[in-house]
Amino acid sequence: MTLSSFLIVLLGSALAISLLQLLAWARSAAKLERIAEEIVQGRRPRSFVIFGPRSLFRVASRLEAILAAGEKLSEQIEQQGENFHGVLRNMMEGVAIVDRNHRVELANDVLMEQFGLGSEPSGRTVLESIRVAEIDRLISEAFARQEARSGEISLRGLPYQSDLFLIVNAVPMRNGPGQPNQVLLVLHDITEHKRSEERQKEFLANVSHEIRTPLSIFRGYVETLMHASPALAAEEVQRVLKILRRHSLRLSKLVNDLLTLSALEPARMHLERSPISLPHFLRRIEADLRQPLQEKRIRLLVQLPENLPKVDGDPFRLEQVFYNLVENAIQYSEPDSPIRMEADLEGDRISIRVIDRGIGIPSADLPYVFERFYRVDKTRSRQAGGTGLGLSIVKRIVDLHQGQVQIQSEPGKGTTVTVTLPAWPLAPPESTPPARPSVSVAPVENPSRTAEGYSDRSRLSHAS
Ligand code: ADP
Repeated sequence: MTLSSFLIVLLGSALAISLLQLLAWARSAAKLERIAEEIVQGRRPRSFVIFGPRSLFRVASRLEAILAAGEKLSEQIEQQGENFHGVLRNMMEGVAIVDRNHRVELANDVLMEQFGLGSEPSGRTVLESIRVAEIDRLISEAFARQEARSGEISLRGLPYQSDLFLIVNAVPMRNGPGQPNQVLLVLHDITEHKRSEERQKEFLANVSHEIRTPLSIFRGYVETLMHASPALAAEEVQRVLKILRRHSLRLSKLVNDLLTLSALEPARMHLERSPISLPHFLRRIEADLRQPLQEKRIRLLVQLPENLPKVDGDPFRLEQVFYNLVENAIQYSEPDSPIRMEADLEGDRISIRVIDRGIGIPSADLPYVFERFYRVDKTRSRQAGGTGLGLSIVKRIVDLHQGQVQIQSEPGKGTTVTVTLPAWPLAPPESTPPARPSVSVAPVENPSRTAEGYSDRSRLSHAS
């Protein structure tokens, strides 16, 4: 072969190799382009392997790494979104997310319950689903002012079973820079708080009324005495003084009962539990109330089965319960009519009944007699020195013992009040008696806890 032909062959081969390389490059570049296109379309390429030039292979591997990082990031964002929604759904408050068109994107069960919605109102507007214009207005304001807005609303009537008071917070949220595109609604139920405010107001109004009445009676009689002629008959003076005494006793009983109620508030209340032997305990109640019993010639019969276990309770507090119940039985019975106290064991509970054959209580009043200041016959109760607080004190004390109190009555036939209390647990054989947890003393001064408090009550009955 001549030199020239050798050169031609060499050149030809070099050209052929270059062409082949160029072709491989072009094929790899086309595959890389397809991979990039698939990623742009949001699909995951089946393979990132590129045979050919090393530089294109490296680009493909980088693309795969970037895609994997992106996928991980979106997984994390999705997880965070799910967590966020999970938190919203499980919140104690009613929660909803609404878009700029006031369409609900998410609502939790609490919100659906608050508005009586059968299903999640997703896709419907606030006015179509929740149907409260005030909430819609707060959402508009939150979008317009780009700041949280809040207001109090009350929902009355159907489909709401009872009045519902809510504090509504509308908080604008942004997914990126610019205008907020969602509003987070948080609805906090303050109905219980409102009710307790109402109860407190009502209670204060009742207390003021109870105190005002005897005070105005006092003023009236004192003025009568001041302006009376010196020749006023001694019997007349005595009569007025007796009336004043009766009302002053009622006032002091009212103050005692109010202090007792306040001492029974859960935050201040500590029971001092010990085993109470019922025969002994009930006999003491009978002895303490002998005077009012004798005044009406009423016999108090105590009937107890043998081997009754002891009661697990605070003796002082339970004395208050049975003083109240027996005094009521005396007050609302005619002279000579008997009162019975019975007890029996049911499982690990002891039921104690105070039974009278007095005037009874109409069935319409029965559900309310444990409410503070509720009286069936206001005049009769006041004349008897009643405050309308006795049975509410009874219920409070029995509740604190995890017991129950029930009342059955028939007008003209009589009334039975049943108090059920836990029995003191029996000691297992050949073991020491169970140690009760020591209990702290209530840091409350309670005048009615003293013997004087009780003698006050009997003096009161005497006066009436
Ligand atoms: P009060 O101080 O007026 O007796 P209570 O809270 O003890 O207040 O009782 C509430 C009301 O329930 C009483 O005013 C009375 O009308 C009625 N009541 C309670 N016990 C009896 C009873 N044993 N017989 C008839 N009525 C009763």
